[in-house]
Amino acid sequence: MTQSAQKLFATEALLADGWARDVAIDVDAEGQITAIKPNASSVGRERLAGPVVPAMPNLHSHAFQRAMAGLAEIAGSGEDSFWTWREEMYRTVGLLDPDDVEAIAKKLFVEMLKGGFGSVAEFHYLHNAIDGRPYADRAEMAKRIIRAAQRTGIGLTLLPVFYAHSNFGGAAPNPGQRRFVHDLDGFQDLREALTPASVETGARLGLAIHSLRAATPDEIRALVRDTNPSDPIHIHVAEQQREVDDCLTATGRRPVQHLSEIADLGSRWCLIHATHMTPDETRVVASSGAVVGLCPATEANLGDGLFPAVDYLKQGGGFGIGTDSHVATSVAEELRILEYGQRLRDQRRNRLAAPGASVGRTLFDGALAGGRQAIGMTVSNAADFVVLDGDNPFIAAATGDQILDRWIFGGLDHAVRDVMVAGEWRIRNRAHGDDERIDRDFLKVLKKLAATA
Ligand SMILES: [Zn+2]
Repeated sequence: MTQSAQKLFATEALLADGWARDVAIDVDAEGQITAIKPNASSVGRERLAGPVVPAMPNLHSHAFQRAMAGLAEIAGSGEDSFWTWREEMYRTVGLLDPDDVEAIAKKLFVEMLKGGFGSVAEFHYLHNAIDGRPYADRAEMAKRIIRAAQRTGIGLTLLPVFYAHSNFGGAAPNPGQRRFVHDLDGFQDLREALTPASVETGARLGLAIHSLRAATPDEIRALVRDTNPSDPIHIHVAEQQREVDDCLTATGRRPVQHLSEIADLGSRWCLIHATHMTPDETRVVASSGAVVGLCPATEANLGDGLFPAVDYLKQGGGFGIGTDSHVATSVAEELRILEYGQRLRDQRRNRLAAPGASVGRTLFDGALAGGRQAIGMTVSNAADFVVLDGDNPFIAAATGDQILDRWIFGGLDHAVRDVMVAGEWRIRNRAHGDDERIDRDFLKVLKKLAATA
């Protein structure tokens, strides 16, 4: 670390125990917060440009999919679903080389920072070359994600994905999946190849299992057994009704029920989507200590269904938010769609907060705690925070929880002004220092995709 210690001052800040005023924040040269003092003097301190809130972890991302956002919106036969979207995704996958993936990831990570995220868990499954063979360095693609995170300054938890089959019962992968697949030995080689890069850059590592379709129960048990006991484990589960039907046919069990019988769900686990659950399954997950990874904009875009958030939160279930396919890249938009889905279903308002509580604050606190747990960041004093725009009249006139409600429900997606990650300013006055080059490289990739459409 080469940065110097900083003495900051915020007129209002959301701290671990709630809102505080006139807050002095000391950040050391390692990017750690060493002291936070409310009711302090601003003398000798840099005055921040608006209220300060913690940076949100983004617990679910497939970076390359950012390039196809908006490209699967031509109506087909009337039965379009996740599965027709997946065909467009496979087309994109067939065209991207390592430079392309790095360019997309850099652009995306900057967009996430500007949306209020300070770190991301990348559920990375694009491993092999275009012809399906491993790269000379098996970790080539994963290292591009690490480099993109390092260059843009977003915190990274890299989750290399195990993917071996096209459906339940260990079915052989289909040609569209050739860039994703490994056997257990190949996957172990990938993980070993990644360790030095993660140590060098400070990226956290975890495990992802693509889905119950893509790994057999024996493979899931072996992967969990061979994983460092403190590493997070993520899996897509029960995202679409067809997955529930296929799982019932193959196993006699629903997906979440099946997973909970294969694995001992606990605080290491993050169940991505878990959209389709019975009340019994909801109870099991809510009491397991696991986090559910909700990606409301993507789930809406793909027509997945609605997560039973009212019941789940009432039972104390943990959750975080992710941007998954990146049809949105903002904290405010994900939290807003999460709440609005429940309102639309129930024909009621303010569904996810207790009586008298702010919905924005309840969702923000929940997603922050669950997100940190899911990306393996539970013990951290890292200076990761967002300064909202104190010149925005909506923000300037608000105080306490109203700041979050204005940001999330007032349509102020661009209220994020400055973002600090690990003690360094990554976004200042809505700009990233490398915006110009990152945009230029990203445009090249989009033109390449357009030329082959
Ligand atoms: Zn996903």
